[in-house]
Amino acid sequence: MATVIDFSAGFPSGKAIKAAGHIGVVSYISPPRESWMKAKPLTKAKVDEYRAAGLRIATVWQYGGADTPDAMRGAAGGRADAQAAKKKLDEIGMPDAPVFFAVDFDISLQQWNGTAVNYFRAAVEVLGRDRVGIYGHSKVVHWAMEDGVVAVVEPGRVLGWVTKSWSEGVTGSDYAVLYQREHNVAGPDGIQIDVNDAYHRDWSSTPGDSGAPSAPAVAGDFKQGVMRSWSKCEAWVTKLMNKHTTPGRGGKQIKYIVRHHNAGILSIDQIWDVWQQRQASAHYQVDRLGMVGQLVWDSDTAWHAADTVRNQESIGIEHANSGGANLDWPISDATIEEGAHLAAALCLKHGLGRPVFGRNIRDHLETGATSCPFHLADGGKYHRKWMERAQYWYDAMRRATTETPKETPVTDYSRLLLDQIAGPGRTPDGAPSFAGWDIDSIIAAGKKKLRETGGCTVPEMIAIVGEDKLRAIIAEGTQS
Ligand SMILES: [Zn+2]
Repeated sequence: MATVIDFSAGFPSGKAIKAAGHIGVVSYISPPRESWMKAKPLTKAKVDEYRAAGLRIATVWQYGGADTPDAMRGAAGGRADAQAAKKKLDEIGMPDAPVFFAVDFDISLQQWNGTAVNYFRAAVEVLGRDRVGIYGHSKVVHWAMEDGVVAVVEPGRVLGWVTKSWSEGVTGSDYAVLYQREHNVAGPDGIQIDVNDAYHRDWSSTPGDSGAPSAPAVAGDFKQGVMRSWSKCEAWVTKLMNKHTTPGRGGKQIKYIVRHHNAGILSIDQIWDVWQQRQASAHYQVDRLGMVGQLVWDSDTAWHAADTVRNQESIGIEHANSGGANLDWPISDATIEEGAHLAAALCLKHGLGRPVFGRNIRDHLETGATSCPFHLADGGKYHRKWMERAQYWYDAMRRATTETPKETPVTDYSRLLLDQIAGPGRTPDGAPSFAGWDIDSIIAAGKKKLRETGGCTVPEMIAIVGEDKLRAIIAEGTQS
């Protein structure tokens, strides 16, 4: 297992770390809390030295001690720390690198849900989810994964760094990237270090690359809790409106998507409730974690675009905000990602073509007396990213649906016949390499298949039924 070290008392030299067989370091980018913490913060010179030594580097933010944990400062703390981390990473030449934010105490679920999760949400707002990692016990890393506030490096695995403290033997090997298994041992150059196992190649930024995890932040069908099926365009939750919609589309065709934001941090249930009172609806709601809910079938008209014909010709997608007016109505990366993915899936399903703003993607404010979809609107701070992701997903989904299978059904069928008659052996050019069935092996293979699957090929069946006769013929041949 590849090992990675972390340290705060001082910097071992790159050469000594390399000589000790470690592949990299996790280094603090936060300022020192106490004077002995000579390895806080990481410097540009050290980054250059470690890279020159061929080491990989990940970064961690931890200022507070056990009685003053950073994450218990909530959203304001997360925002401040992420902004400071961003600035430091820019200074030391790692402008795209992710950061592990440390939760270095035995945090309870109540503390997480009440306060610490907001620290991470704010960090995600500042850095983007792809750059936010978490250090802590095995449970808190899992909570962060469930709440969608850390980067996903592959389906089911997040940028999580599990410490053995308070983890009761759970290492996170199946959902995290690093496990801190040894504390305070003598390391390279005699400096005290912790030793970590690396479970995934994307535990760090890599010399020469952007440092961003290589997998897309959210991996389509693999991510639980977004859609039941992307290919069938089936939402995770269906909660149909019982009012404030119109059956059918008045004979009109669906031509485009209209984007909205909630101006609220609403779940799928909550927006349904809002529309019980307000005379409004939309086809889809994407919540702040990216879960998609369908509230009006595509074939019906939702009341979202302040114009009858526009309503009849469009599909409305609502995006939940992840913060309120005091944070200027942010939208999480997860919501942007899944909203854009949903738009792409709908463009494909309804034959609207590749997402292009002004053509098949439109904004609410074009017809309503509103600023909706606010930061998502054309020219707004999320617009470009949303459009890029919509086009990315459209292209990816289109490739997946239009790729021709390697063998047509006709070829499959003739191959099946050939397998029946001549066995599955093939010469390199695909012709059956038929020299007659070997009786012992065909009987053995047929019996095995029958036992295991209840079926076998026609030649196998004949061979089994006629086993005695076949053996008699073979015996005759060997006697004469
Ligand atoms: Zn709107």
